[in-house]
Amino acid sequence: MKRDYAVIGLGRFGGSICKELSSEGMQVLAIDSDEDKINEFKNIASHAVIADSTDEATLKELGIRNIDHVIVAIGDNIQASILTTVVLTDLNIKMITVKAQNDYHEKILNRIGANQVVHPERDMGKRIAHNIISSNILDYLELSDDYSIAEVKAGSKMSGKTLIDLDIRAEYGCNVVAIKQGKDINVSPAADEVIKGDDILIVIGADKDLSRFEKHLVIDR
Ligand code: ATP
Repeated sequence: MKRDYAVIGLGRFGGSICKELSSEGMQVLAIDSDEDKINEFKNIASHAVIADSTDEATLKELGIRNIDHVIVAIGDNIQASILTTVVLTDLNIKMITVKAQNDYHEKILNRIGANQVVHPERDMGKRIAHNIISSNILDYLELSDDYSIAEVKAGSKMSGKTLIDLDIRAEYGCNVVAIKQGKDINVSPAADEVIKGDDILIVIGADKDLSRFEKHLVIDR
C-alpha cells in the first residue's frame, strides 16, 4: 500500500529518509529551500520542490494538508524547525516527526505538538557506546528517558542455561521478550528453553537494571 510522506530538509538525515522511503516505493514530497538539494533529489523523490517551509501559504499550496506524515529534518536552523512544526500543527497534519538538535529543542518540539521527536546523533552515540563496551551488545534502543530495549548476544555466560537458571526477571528486573536463533525468532520464550551462545536475546527494562544485567551476564571480561 502506498502512503504519502513529505520530507522537509534534505541534509544527511532528511536525505537518507527520503531515499529510503522512495526506494521502498513510497510517494515522497521532498522540500528544501536550497536549489542544489532539490536538483539532487528530483530524480529520487516523486516530487522535489524548492520552498521555505516556515511559510504557511507555500506549504498549503504544495498540498501538504493531504499528506499524512511529514518529517521535519531541518537541523542547524532551530528557529526554522520550530516554526515549520508550528505551521504543520496548525494545518492539522496527522503525524509530524521532527529531528531535534539538542534536549532543549526536543522539549519545545514536544510542547508545540510534534508527534514524534527523534534525536539521531544522541541515540546513535548511545548505541555505539554500548557496542563499544561489549561487542555482545548488538543494539540499544531508547524507549523513554529511563527504559530501553537491548539486543544482546547470549555469549559464554548464558550459554547452556535456561531462563529459569538465569532468573533474569527476579535478579535484574529485566524481561527477555524474544530470543532470535538464526533466522527464527521466538517471541515469549519458554522459561525452560536452553540458550545457546549464538542466540540473540531481546531484553527490555529500566536503564539501570539493563546496565546491571549487561555487566553480570553479557560483558565477557
Ligand atoms: P544533517 O546533519 O542531517 O546533514 P543538518 O543539521 O546539517 O542535517 P541543516 O543543513 O541544518 O541540517 O538542514 C537540513 C536542510 O534543511 C538543508 O538542506 C537546508 O537547506 C534545509 N532547510 C533549512 N531551513 C529550511 C527552511 N526554512 N525550509 C526548507 N528547507 C530548509
